[in-house]
Amino acid sequence: MIADFRSDTVTKPTRGMLEAMNAAPVGDDVFGEDPGVNALERKVAEMFGKQAAVFCPSGTMTNQIAIKAHTRPADEVICDRLSHVYNYEGGGIAFHSGCSLSLMDGDRGRFTAEDVANSIRPDDIHSPRTSLVAVENTTNKGGGACWDFAELQKIRRVCDENGLAFHLDGARLFNALVAKGETPEMYGNLFDSISICLSKGLGAPVGSLLLGDAEFIEYARRIRKLMGGGMRQAGSLAVAGIYALDNHVERLGDDHARAKRLAEVLSNLAYVSKVIEPETNIVIFELKKSLDPKAFLSGLEKEGVKAVSFGGQLIRFVTHLDITEQMMEHTIEKLSAISL
Ligand SMILES: *Cc1c(COP(=O)(O)O)cnc(C)c1O
Repeated sequence: MIADFRSDTVTKPTRGMLEAMNAAPVGDDVFGEDPGVNALERKVAEMFGKQAAVFCPSGTMTNQIAIKAHTRPADEVICDRLSHVYNYEGGGIAFHSGCSLSLMDGDRGRFTAEDVANSIRPDDIHSPRTSLVAVENTTNKGGGACWDFAELQKIRRVCDENGLAFHLDGARLFNALVAKGETPEMYGNLFDSISICLSKGLGAPVGSLLLGDAEFIEYARRIRKLMGGGMRQAGSLAVAGIYALDNHVERLGDDHARAKRLAEVLSNLAYVSKVIEPETNIVIFELKKSLDPKAFLSGLEKEGVKAVSFGGQLIRFVTHLDITEQMMEHTIEKLSAISL
């Protein structure tokens, strides 16, 4: 048995999902003729109360398209120091959009409306033009933390007062919705653009969607094509996404409960110095200095448990669809057997 906690991206399609994929009618999506892609884009747009959506191969692409569409070269984008768009998209904001960044020092990736207001550049030819605020919910590097919705509403107000666009990297937004009892419409009403991933906790093999108003998405389609992201008979991937949205949202609560259980076990282990309280499906903890993270991870892997290093003494576990109860028990047993 291998209990793979490296990421919620490692899930394999379930039998039901594979059956839906096999049965998908397909067409050429670049011609707008793939029935599955059209149905997925319509479904997600309606779910969030947005005018339109565009299906893309990855969340990196949906974020980068959104940033490109909201900015002009030499503009400045406000985002958190821990954000995915800054840390894990290959410097794409500089490459695709030619923008600089104003990095916030938030709490687990969450900053405040006041931080945003204080970071907006003056209208002066010496300064870059601030044009976009990007937030991430849940925060990946922040250990799956959820934003306070009231703070997001305050940031929206600051954006409106200063003519800034507001983008949400919602790669794990459904984890936040389930954890906080929030609805997609709440987010659809608040943001100019939203990126969601089907390939994280929702368990689809590939795909992300970018949502926005009709004109924005029409422009986003143009950028998707120039980035090489126009897919053809992508319907089997799209119906996997539809299946995931219909069947794998509510169950995210199980992943959250398991992350809490792991955190409880970890917090009682002598070799763990700190556990970041999980709010969703990500558990980040710190090993005491006397334990080498590389040796810890390779030792665990020999016992059939995989996790990743998260820099320094930090280790990350992510719970997901393919983790079974048996794997949980095996993992807890192996973690508990390690001594300093
Ligand atoms: C995974 C992830 C993305 C997108 O990643 P892809 O691997 O390109 O699909 C974007 N933002 C966050 C916060 C993520 O965790």
